[in-house]
Amino acid sequence: MLAVRVLLDQDIEMTGITFQTPFFGPAGAQKAARQLGIPLRVVDIGEAHLEMLKNPKYGYGSQMNPCIDCHALMLKTAGGIMDAEGFDFLCTGEVLGQRPMSQRKDALRAVDKLSGYGGYILRPLSAKLLWETVPEELGKVDRQRLLDIHGRSRKVQMALAAYYGIEEYPSPGGGCILTKEGFADRLRDLLATQEEVGLHDVELLKCGRHLRLPSGRRLVVGRVHGDNLRLQALAREEDLLLRVKGIPGPTGLLAAQVSVQEVELAAGIVAAYSDAETGEDTVVVLSGRENREITVTVRPKEDFRELLIQ
Ligand code: SF4
Repeated sequence: MLAVRVLLDQDIEMTGITFQTPFFGPAGAQKAARQLGIPLRVVDIGEAHLEMLKNPKYGYGSQMNPCIDCHALMLKTAGGIMDAEGFDFLCTGEVLGQRPMSQRKDALRAVDKLSGYGGYILRPLSAKLLWETVPEELGKVDRQRLLDIHGRSRKVQMALAAYYGIEEYPSPGGGCILTKEGFADRLRDLLATQEEVGLHDVELLKCGRHLRLPSGRRLVVGRVHGDNLRLQALAREEDLLLRVKGIPGPTGLLAAQVSVQEVELAAGIVAAYSDAETGEDTVVVLSGRENREITVTVRPKEDFRELLIQ
């Protein structure tokens, strides 16, 4: 938001661009663009981002966040739009030294190189401490009116926000879900144990508890009502949904084909996590790629503890 305001002060016309993946979305940028009064594009880079995430050139940060490669992918995508539509340059709100790994000078250079748009990426908040870019050389931007903010403190940015009358801004320091330990552990496990990982697998990773069946396939079981609704929404024709008939309990989802024995095991797990009485027979309804009912004897959920993926 500050980078945009600094350039708007130079009467530069700006269009915002933000990105959508399973790990982050456009809500913050949409709010910011409304406050700034600039148009905003939302570009879905989910597929490309997931491919990059499997093997990022510059590795991961403290968790599964490949920030250098992620920035580079966003700027590469934005650069393609710049070329196609005749924009003059790209700008970001990065601040030199604000993040220990991804915003060092060498990391910013790596982003420039990897994106393929080095020279066209302007960082107005730290520009005076960085190399001169093409728009500065061409006089499209006045370098003297750019800033030299650096370091981890946000005091200068907060003062600048107050100067521009920006009262609502995202809380500093937040990263996307890839920086969160629990989610990162799950994703690490998924990438290590499943040969082909697609966007659907990643969406499933965001909800419920995951259990590994003996074949290595996963069963996802809703923890809360919201998870159950989400699993129902995510289920494709080829997936199998499981729920206990007539008794409150979780929805289970099996995305992969498994043996009849493992379907029965999955039904037993879903029943164990339901309100059905232990030791009683109960009916589990299957829907999706199979539509039938299975009767299982309800076991305590502790019996399945070793299948849980933490
Ligand atoms: S925190 Fe997440 S969204 Fe931000 S650069 Fe890193 S990987 Fe990308």
